[in-house]
Amino acid sequence: MSGAGTVRIDVLTIFPRWFEGPLTTSLLGRGIAEGELDVRVHDLREWATDRHRSVDAAPYGGGAGMVMRADVWIDACEAVWNDLPAGETRGRTVAGGPLPSDQALAGGPRPRTVLLTPRGRPFTQSLARELAAERRLVLLCGRYEGIDERVHDLVATDEVSVGDYVLFGGEVAAAAVIEAVTRLIPGVLGNDASSAEESFSSGLLEYPQYTRPAEIRGHGVPAVLASGDHGAVARWRRAQAEALTARRRPDLLARSVQPVMTADGPDVAGGPDAAGGPDAAGGEDSVAFPDNADGPGGAWDADRASAQDD
Ligand code: SAM
Repeated sequence: MSGAGTVRIDVLTIFPRWFEGPLTTSLLGRGIAEGELDVRVHDLREWATDRHRSVDAAPYGGGAGMVMRADVWIDACEAVWNDLPAGETRGRTVAGGPLPSDQALAGGPRPRTVLLTPRGRPFTQSLARELAAERRLVLLCGRYEGIDERVHDLVATDEVSVGDYVLFGGEVAAAAVIEAVTRLIPGVLGNDASSAEESFSSGLLEYPQYTRPAEIRGHGVPAVLASGDHGAVARWRRAQAEALTARRRPDLLARSVQPVMTADGPDVAGGPDAAGGPDAAGGEDSVAFPDNADGPGGAWDADRASAQDD
């Protein structure tokens, strides 16, 4: 199933069937079917210990809803890390035994283990690139009111949020991570050149794209794109990308360090100017997400480390 260079992603969820659509459809489905990518979805309930297969319990201290149990998550993660069959554990380590850690593993350091949570580090193209460099990823999908904090502290290597909103569960977030990461893995699923030019790859949003017909209901295509002048097209695209980014996401422009297409200047050679389109400056889209410019994890890792010291 998994070839020598294949990237493997394990997903832990209480709704494994949720992934049947995303993982069997389109490019992702084809990549998995052809063995370019190895995605294994595990049912967390396989590691539950009671006859009801419970994975949750009432929160200590009271409050609304239920919280996912740390013992079930720890057993499940250890089993997945160590390739044990579903439901098996290396022993009930949580009640006094060794903590899950790199030392608990037979085969080297634990894989990058990403807990999806609204409290996590914002998921960006830059983080997707970082994760795409891994040979193995494990994605943990929470439900209910979330997961016992000890799983955040002891099991996860990363906590990742897909946005400042709250979903029912981590499955949608995990699917977003899988898609964004796999399309950046060199040679997997597609067109490496297109991902080098698209939004965020150089810190800018992508320039506008057009295709046939040349005119629709009186609206044409910027003449420069049909000019055959590749230099002019490249300059126009860069200028458009910069203008669009300045209007909608000035936070990205401030961090942009590389040109999108060429080293040519940003002078516009024909075509529509940058006016129009929803201007999000100052709106929700323009929120400046901290990125990992300060190295992997940045503020999120530091925050978790200090929380564990407390
Ligand atoms: N009570 C939690 C809070 O306020 O942060 C939210 C729990 S949410 C209903 C249940 C699960 O959905 C979370 O454990 C997480 O796995 C997932 N989830 C929800 N929103 C998410 C987001 N923005 N990014 C990543 N995962 C999210």
